[in-house]
Amino acid sequence: MGLLYLGTPLTWDEVKKHADHVRFHGITQFLHTWDRLKDRHGDELLWGDEVEYLVVALDDEQKDAKLSLRQTEILEKLSTICGDISSDCPDSISVPTFHPEYGRYMLESTPGSPYTGSIPDLLSVEANMRYRRALARKHLKRHEIPLTLTSFPRLGVPGPFTEPYFDPADAVSSHSLFLPEEITNPHARFPTLTANIRQRRGSKVAINLPLFFDTQTPRPFVDPTIPWERSLYAEDPEAKAGAALTDHIYMDAMGFGMGCCCLQLTFQACHVADARRMYDGLIPIGPILLALSAASPIWRGYLADVDCRWNVIAGSVDDRTEEERGLKPLENSRFKIPKSRYDSVDLYISTDWINRPEYNDNPLPYDQSIYSRLREHGIDDLLSKHVSHLFIRDPLVVFSETLDQDDEKSSDHFENLQSTNWQTLRFKPPPPNSSIGWRVEFRSMEVQMTDYENAAFAVFVVLLSRVILSFNTNFYIPISKVDENMARAQRRDAAQTGKFYFRKDVGSRHHSAVSSAASSDCSSGCNSPVNGVPAGKEKKMRNCFPDPPLPENGINVLPVEEEYEEMTMNEIMNGKGDEFPGLLGLITAYLETLDIEPDELNKIHNYLDLVRRRANGSLLTPATWIRNFVRAHPAYKHDSVVSAEINYDLIVAVDEIERGVRKADDLLPADYTGSKEDSGSIGL
Ligand code: ADP
Ligand code: MG
Ligand code: MG
Ligand code: MG
Ligand code: MG
Ligand code: MG
Repeated sequence: MGLLYLGTPLTWDEVKKHADHVRFHGITQFLHTWDRLKDRHGDELLWGDEVEYLVVALDDEQKDAKLSLRQTEILEKLSTICGDISSDCPDSISVPTFHPEYGRYMLESTPGSPYTGSIPDLLSVEANMRYRRALARKHLKRHEIPLTLTSFPRLGVPGPFTEPYFDPADAVSSHSLFLPEEITNPHARFPTLTANIRQRRGSKVAINLPLFFDTQTPRPFVDPTIPWERSLYAEDPEAKAGAALTDHIYMDAMGFGMGCCCLQLTFQACHVADARRMYDGLIPIGPILLALSAASPIWRGYLADVDCRWNVIAGSVDDRTEEERGLKPLENSRFKIPKSRYDSVDLYISTDWINRPEYNDNPLPYDQSIYSRLREHGIDDLLSKHVSHLFIRDPLVVFSETLDQDDEKSSDHFENLQSTNWQTLRFKPPPPNSSIGWRVEFRSMEVQMTDYENAAFAVFVVLLSRVILSFNTNFYIPISKVDENMARAQRRDAAQTGKFYFRKDVGSRHHSAVSSAASSDCSSGCNSPVNGVPAGKEKKMRNCFPDPPLPENGINVLPVEEEYEEMTMNEIMNGKGDEFPGLLGLITAYLETLDIEPDELNKIHNYLDLVRRRANGSLLTPATWIRNFVRAHPAYKHDSVVSAEINYDLIVAVDEIERGVRKADDLLPADYTGSKEDSGSIGL
């Protein structure tokens, strides 16, 4: 999330008038960044995580769990605390940073400074996350807990689900039938985003998740909890007029999606070409890790037939007009746009030869005049398309005070569009006036209930990003197949029963890459080349590698359709036959090129084991575990309804599992000990 300005946000009618101004200057700002930093080389691997939390208030007498709306106070307290603790923060942990998020019941935390490529740093991420959680927990009220649960099961049910209670009738920004205004972070940015999305679209957002039909669920299912007859806002009749589908869970506001929690990772690359290579390499991984981290099977008090948040968020900020959605011929809108501004990536952007043009097979509306401007400035076709595709969107929040900027010093207008294109991967140019390099953010994963799991997924993705760069792996499949995988990833139990398109020969040109490394030195500024790897193993994970080898003469290029096949999660992670080592196999091979102490290696394999076991089905995804918990609850009537009592018991169970006072051997390894010791052991 970008900086939060204090200022006067413009209404949608005003924003519209300034859209071209923001886009024009946004591109000017990008071009300045490009000119300054396109040749920048030699940036180290730095990386960081973002963990989001729900703050839940427990009422043990009433057996109710509600969202606490104290974000503002909590963040104020945490920022004071973080200012004060610099001195008594454990040496190995930088003072964390807490950030606001969309929901007024949410927190986000990041490490205070990024991790380096050292193995001890890699292994510090769990302690870092746990420290952050312990800090948050300690500064909440006694009955409040920070939970890393992707979606709050009873967000938007009739009656109280927040503390304190507010009536949805007051939802002046969203006009929601279900969520009160007070669900949203009060900073002007958030209500304005909410209102301007609705106004730009011309109706409320409409999300329909297929309901999970249990044995006693009425069929057809017409939701009795929708206030079908309300008539407070102009949009109230939409539900009845077709926005709410039978047999589905209907949601009508930004908060349902942006009020979810996720786990994100950002990596710095050596230079822009490597950032583009890493970005592309991680694109096909997005849906795979969405499925494996699936953690959100309950929505608005009902079990859904999906396990993930993705489509909910995509729908929750879908500001496209009817014309853009293809429901009407283009008249006032400029483009037909296939996807919401929150969705999967549409374009591979590496200029590496292995990125065959055939892989970019999605329709790609882009702004022709912006594209031409970028091309005339000397930027290549793919990056020009990437940026001019992001810039088909309108800015959503504009503050009158910041309309005029110094385009050489600011990137705010660029970031305005960039940061409201919420995609599975984000290609992040360096901000002005900083030492930060070109970065890639991996954004698809659902947050896990424990920091052990969050750390395990972080370790896995960090190592995979090193595999991509150091082995020059080739994960390309047509990007339309990645989108098909996104759809499959969200289906119930996809990690166990689904199949995903994946590349058969991931080309690990690692043997040749490693042996030819000494001869093809990286340009100046990079670390020394990998002479003699694996003989002389490396102390840390590097960021700078020699350029990938060019195709050998007479290389046989298969038709694209023969390059990939459908695989199970287990095959993708753990390997298939002699040809495909699996992502974990690649990571193991990469680890062999590093000089790692045996106990460190053990710890890394411990984390990788969680990923392995989730993939082979010997451990459940959080979504399956949650679904099983509900269906086994004595008060569950097998009618898909997650009552307040079930929700309370679920929340308590999740908290107890996290703290290690309750076992869940089908979800976590048997030796998981939990965080109950943390606040004592780290001197809080
Ligand atoms: P956003 O919400 O825009 O994605 P945040 O500031 O919340 O950004 O999180 C960014 C993450 O990137 C944090 O984990 C931070 O530690 C990490 N980070 C900061 N600087 C760098 C860098 N130079 N390279 C890689 N990661 C970085
Ligand atoms: Mg953030
Ligand atoms: Mg953010
Ligand atoms: Mg966030
Ligand atoms: Mg407490
Ligand atoms: Mg982020």
